[in-house]
Amino acid sequence: MSDQSIDPSAVAESELATRRGVFRAVAFRDPEDGNEHLALVLGPLGEGEDVLVRVHSECVTGDAMGALRCECGDQLDAALDRIVGEGRGVLVYLRGHEGRGIGLLAKFRTLALQDEQGLDTVDSATVLGLPVDARDYGPAARVLRHLEVRSVRLLTNNPDKGRSLEDHGVKVASRVPLLMPARAQNRAYLAAKRDRLGHDLPHLDPPPNGSDPALG
Ligand SMILES: [Zn+2]
Repeated sequence: MSDQSIDPSAVAESELATRRGVFRAVAFRDPEDGNEHLALVLGPLGEGEDVLVRVHSECVTGDAMGALRCECGDQLDAALDRIVGEGRGVLVYLRGHEGRGIGLLAKFRTLALQDEQGLDTVDSATVLGLPVDARDYGPAARVLRHLEVRSVRLLTNNPDKGRSLEDHGVKVASRVPLLMPARAQNRAYLAAKRDRLGHDLPHLDPPPNGSDPALG
């Protein structure tokens, strides 16, 4: 696919001390989507082989506000913990990915529909004429190339994400599950991700007979 590279004039980096440790923070403007994204790098990446990588889609409600109706914030925390635990890895934080790429306003329109009509995360988008998943992983591929990452162990439950990165030239050596315990507030959302979006979530219980259909 596209083989554009990030212009050096569109990159800035510094050390970033966090609660978990000190990362090398790399901000960049993607040449194709025009958004400013962030990569946090931990440890020397060496030859860039088998690097533990999380490509995280921005979710301001989950990531920054601690919202419980998705598992984004939990996954962001867990991914950073895993990278720190290994002492080496990259977290790519992709902006412009709210609501699987539909934007914040549209995301809230789908949330309102979910609450008012009981629609799931897929149908609430399609009813509004919105794409179910409009995310572009090209910026992640480009920054990984910029960082000289040659192959990744990808922290995700979403096989499509691995395939999309491979389409953009990233060698995905393996997929590492990032399973978050379900909460009452996100059980239906997780079930829809499993049943309708093909996410690999083997830890979720099948809906018990009658009482708690995955939408309950
Ligand atoms: Zn979220």
